[in-house]
Parts: sequence; C-alpha cells; structure tokens
Amino acid sequence: MSARLLDGRAVAAEIRGEAARETAAFRERTGVTPRLVMILAGEDPASVVYTRNKAKAAEESGIGADLITLPVSVTAAALRSQIASLNADPGVHGILVQLPLPSEIDAAVVTEAIDPVKDVDGVHPVNAGRLAAGRPGFVPCTPAGIMELLRRSGIPVAGREAIVLGRSAIVGRPMAALLTAADATVTVAHSKTQDLESVTRRGEILVAAIGRAAAIGKRHIRPGATVVDVGINRCTSAADAAVYFPGQPERLDEIRRRGHTLVGDVHPAEGAEAAGAITPVPGGIGPLTIAMLLLNTLKAARGLAGERV
Ligand code: NDP
Repeated sequence: MSARLLDGRAVAAEIRGEAARETAAFRERTGVTPRLVMILAGEDPASVVYTRNKAKAAEESGIGADLITLPVSVTAAALRSQIASLNADPGVHGILVQLPLPSEIDAAVVTEAIDPVKDVDGVHPVNAGRLAAGRPGFVPCTPAGIMELLRRSGIPVAGREAIVLGRSAIVGRPMAALLTAADATVTVAHSKTQDLESVTRRGEILVAAIGRAAAIGKRHIRPGATVVDVGINRCTSAADAAVYFPGQPERLDEIRRRGHTLVGDVHPAEGAEAAGAITPVPGGIGPLTIAMLLLNTLKAARGLAGERV
C-alpha cells in the first residue's frame, strides 16, 4: 500500500469540535439552541444508521436533534404537509429528509417543500441555484465535507484537473460546482460516458460517487492522483472481501458477525496502489458529511436569529 490515507474521521472530529464551540457561543449570545429535525420514511437499514449517527453527533455538539419516522407507505402529500409544519415552527432551524425516499415518491417534489432557509442538506433548487451561480446558500453536506477535507489535508485544487464521477443532485453536481468555484478544471462523468477509463485517468483529483461496489480500479486512476471515495456499499461476499481487503482478516470477521462489511466505489487494494492519497471506507467521507450537517444547522439557526451568515 502506497497511498496516503486521508483521515476523514480526524478532520470530522476537528469540525465537530468547532461546531460545538460555536454552538455554545451562539446559545450564550441568543439563548437559542439550534435544532435539527430529520424525517425518515421507511426502514432502510443504512438510513436508520445514518439518521441515528447524525442525531448523536448533533447532541454531542449541543444541537438538538429529533427524528420523525414515517411508514414506507407514506405519501408525498403527507411528507409535504409534515415539512410545512416544520417550516412554520420557529423552534426548528434545520430540516433534513433522509434520502433515498421510498421508490414511489419523487424526492424532488418533497425536498422542494423545505423552506430554503432551513434546508441544511442544500437540496432545495434555490440553494442548488445559488451554488451554481456562485452565491452563498446551503451547500449539500457531502461535497462541502470533501472540500474541507481537501483544504485541511493540504491538497491543492486550483488549476488542477478534477474528474467527478456521478451527477446526482446531492453529490456529483454540487461537487462539480464547488471544485469549479475553487478553480479546478472539472469534468463530470456518468453512466453514459464513453471510454470512462480514459476520462477518469485524466484526474489529478478523482471523486467517485456512483454507488457501485469497488467498480473503480487501478485502470481508472491516474498514478499519484488524490482519490475521494464517496461510495458506501455493503459487501456480503467473503470471496469479494478477500480480494478487496487482502491482509485484513477483520473484514471477513465483520461479514461473519454482521453479514456485511462496507466498501466504497473504489477497489480498496487497487486504489491504495495507484493513488497518491485516498479516503478510506468507512472513516472517510461519511463522518465529514455528518460534521458539515452540524455546521449547516448552526448556520441556519444563526440566519433565523438575524445574524449575518
Ligand atoms: P445516485 O444513485 O443518485 O447517483 C449515481 C450516479 O453515478 C449517477 O449520476 C449515475 O449516472 C452514475 N453511475 C452509476 N453507475 C455508473 C457507472 N457504472 N459508471 C459511471 N457512472 C455511473 O447516487 P448518490 O450520488 O446519491 O450516491 C453515490 C454513492 O455515494 C452511493 O454509494 C451512496 O451510498 C454514497 N453516498 C455517501 C455519502 C457519504 O456520506 N459518504 C452521502 C451520499 C451518498 P446517471 O446519472 O447516468 O444515472
């Protein structure tokens, strides 16, 4: 293994510490405790874990967090009406709808119901538009966390060739906008991209966000590139895990104990060999996403309290 590991957990801990200190100062100034409300529709096991982790991190930073759980059969109209009551509640500063929503529901219809000033996941078109226009607003937590990781790890972005693999509204598109704003030369690749390898191999920075376990291998990576692996996929096969994680018997133990181990979109062994720096899974981008949610919730509370943000 040659690549430097970019420790998302350590950077996230730093950001969470800052969020806690700034939250305490805000509470002292205003008497207001920032409060985040998350909505979870259905019981997707990964979403249950994510919302639980987000609530725990919020509480540890002095931010109130509530989780509203709704049945998988919930309608878009019911979700929108739930959101409307949270929009109207002055004690709620941040609203997050955990994605993915049940497949019958159009996520855009639901997320557009969130008041943009409480949209701490940056999913409302007003915030997406502000980001695209280079104006201040709420930025989705995952790409915002990636920019913080690059900055705090001393990875230069300006003038470099960056490839973003994936074009979702929550990761790929805002990632491309942030890298562009930071003066990288950016290409977005996706499932219809021709000759993907030759595109991704151009990247001095490669961000993989496609949701395909270990699909990005050595052949996709420019030697020495900085590789950011956003993917979170469950690997249930001991045979696959043995290939992805040679010399890590704890991964096989995990499959025996929990039924799965997590793997990113980048083949871990090949990525570590080809990249100059790489984010691990777990312990890379996941913790940063949570840390940025805390900062966004504090920012929402400050904005609603009339402070300049
Ligand atoms: P989506 O499914 O919404 O988007 C996936 C994107 O990848 C699409 O743009 C799709 O292209 C593209 N794609 C899919 N397959 C391929 C392929 N074989 N080659 C090239 N492009 C492909 O996923 P998300 O953006 O929501 O999430 C991506 C991954 O990141 C998931 O594993 C998710 O779990 C993880 N994630 C992790 C977070 C974290 O905190 N670490 C937070 C959010 C997501 P097209 O548009 O053409 O369909």
